Amino acid sequence: MSLLTQGGEPALVPTCGPLPNRPKLLIVDDQAINVQALYQVFAASHQVFVATSGEQALTIARDKLPDLILLDIEMPDLDGYTVCERLKANDATRNIPVIFVTARNDSATETKGLEVGAVDFIAKPFNPTVVRARVKTHMTLKAQSDLLRQMVFIDGLTGVYNRRFFDERIAAESRRCARNNAPLALILVDVDHFKRYNDRYGHQAGDECLRRIAATLQSNLKRPADFVARYGGEEFACILPETEFSGAMALAELLEKKVRALCIDHAVSDVAEFVSASFGIAEYPIASQGSVEALISTADAQLYRAKAEGRGRACGVSLGQAPAS
Ligand code: GH3
Ligand code: MG
Ligand code: MG
Ligand code: MG
Repeated sequence: MSLLTQGGEPALVPTCGPLPNRPKLLIVDDQAINVQALYQVFAASHQVFVATSGEQALTIARDKLPDLILLDIEMPDLDGYTVCERLKANDATRNIPVIFVTARNDSATETKGLEVGAVDFIAKPFNPTVVRARVKTHMTLKAQSDLLRQMVFIDGLTGVYNRRFFDERIAAESRRCARNNAPLALILVDVDHFKRYNDRYGHQAGDECLRRIAATLQSNLKRPADFVARYGGEEFACILPETEFSGAMALAELLEKKVRALCIDHAVSDVAEFVSASFGIAEYPIASQGSVEALISTADAQLYRAKAEGRGRACGVSLGQAPAS
């Protein structure tokens, strides 16, 4: 639980209890007495953050990503409407439900609040039971919609991101790297002789094999912005923003070894006695040098080359240089 003053220092003695799983609530009000009153209602059950101005509310919302915000309307400088509009204009904070807590109870106030994106209103002076119940309802709805949003982007078999997420993220990462004059690398991964694997060991074992490979790829990515997605049936893609060619090649070679090191028997592979995979790498030294389509088709061509050269290996090219092996 964190109760912050303007300077970001703890203002009240924190209550104790296990913190990490408590829902996060941000209380915003310029009057200390209102903050105190709401704080008392939630301190024991929630991780509570407090802001006493609109600017501070926006900063804490971005940093802490609360599950819900109780927002005063009348505040000096930024009023509650403006704060709400700004929260809704930012991708990171857009989905945080906002409940206005206000002494005004006219329909114009309510209409304007709903127009700027609030989910509910609570009248001051408030009834603690009602506030608690409303907060609970909207936090439950938020948790459900978060889960749905996540599920849309997760591959059901392996638990890594799916193709839809890959398509969205690679375009966004490419734009981000281009803005920063940074490189962008892509690794495509294809399991070797996987049809034979299924034929020999059965589809269920094939599924389990894909799950283990996905987990291995995921756990060996290095940076927070790196991610793996299931690209197709037995194909995966690793997007590596701000990663140069040599780094991407080194990572692909490591992943190749890690897949083999799973020691999943593959008696009918001509590559090795265990399941292996082939890797195709492409990189733009500066992401703005070319299109996402060209990056993908180049990585695909390199993957084809890795297959043709005997599988169980990594082949790559930097689109800023002559082809490398
Ligand atoms: P190569 O080394 O050239 O990549 O050979 P391959 O057999 O891996 O390639 P091919 O494209 O011929 O076959 C891919 C196989 O992957 C066929 C398909 O049944 C299997 N596969 C695709 N998706 C799944 C899945 O979700 N589960 C299982 N068990 N198998 C899958
Ligand atoms: Mg006020
Ligand atoms: Mg394939
Ligand atoms: Mg394959």
